[in-house]
Amino acid sequence: MKKVFIDAGHGGNDPGASGHDLKEKDITLAIARQTKNYLDKMFSGVDVKVSRTKDRSVTLKERTNAANAWGADVLVSIHVNAGGGRGFESYMYNGAFKGKEKTREIQKVLHEAILEETGFVNRGMKEQNFHMVRASQMPAVLTENGFIDRKEDAVLLKSAAFLNKIAKGHAVGIANVLRLPKKQGIVSQVMYRVVTGSFENYTYAKELVRLLAKKDMEAFIDPHTSRGKTYYRVVTGSFQELANAKKRVSTLESYGFDSFIVNV
Ligand SMILES: [Zn+2]
Repeated sequence: MKKVFIDAGHGGNDPGASGHDLKEKDITLAIARQTKNYLDKMFSGVDVKVSRTKDRSVTLKERTNAANAWGADVLVSIHVNAGGGRGFESYMYNGAFKGKEKTREIQKVLHEAILEETGFVNRGMKEQNFHMVRASQMPAVLTENGFIDRKEDAVLLKSAAFLNKIAKGHAVGIANVLRLPKKQGIVSQVMYRVVTGSFENYTYAKELVRLLAKKDMEAFIDPHTSRGKTYYRVVTGSFQELANAKKRVSTLESYGFDSFIVNV
């Protein structure tokens, strides 16, 4: 059984960074929870612990003590950036330590999985003297997932669908690092997604969701990033069967909404 320790940065009386009505501590908690969910649901041979499951204060020392005492195989500390910039970066300890090359390999696998899943702008793999990566006795990586005080990133961080992508990137990366076997019988639940419009302007996407709601069509916004550019897809249905997705497209057309199907 492999042991994974997920640290949700900040919490309680330490909100972390803030901006655009967002607090870092809430985002890190949502991502940490979802990462555990993905690992538990999709992979076997893994035991996942999180540093906090609610909004509470935990000192840095308490976090690394918990991971060390438990004997985790890998630790990932989840954070959100601030202070000028855009996109994703990851950190390992900058000092000399045993197993540094192995940790660098782990950082690389994790870094690439998160970029692939999110389409974040790549700010690179870095080293720093952070407590979480220094005081952990197992390979440890700290991730900085977008900039809370930058409008383009804040819009992404406000979307639950996008936080799920960040979490999935972490889970897939960790699974690759630990070579976790996929659970038997797990197939991607959703194969076809109906999209009614894709916009560069978030306001337009929100307006379309409002218009669809008037017709009792439930929709959500799924930010899709490619080469650093964000498109706001309005998703009006997710299906396992292509025939059902096509049916939804016809229904939408009858209301005057042109739609298309994407594979996921
Ligand atoms: Zn932080």
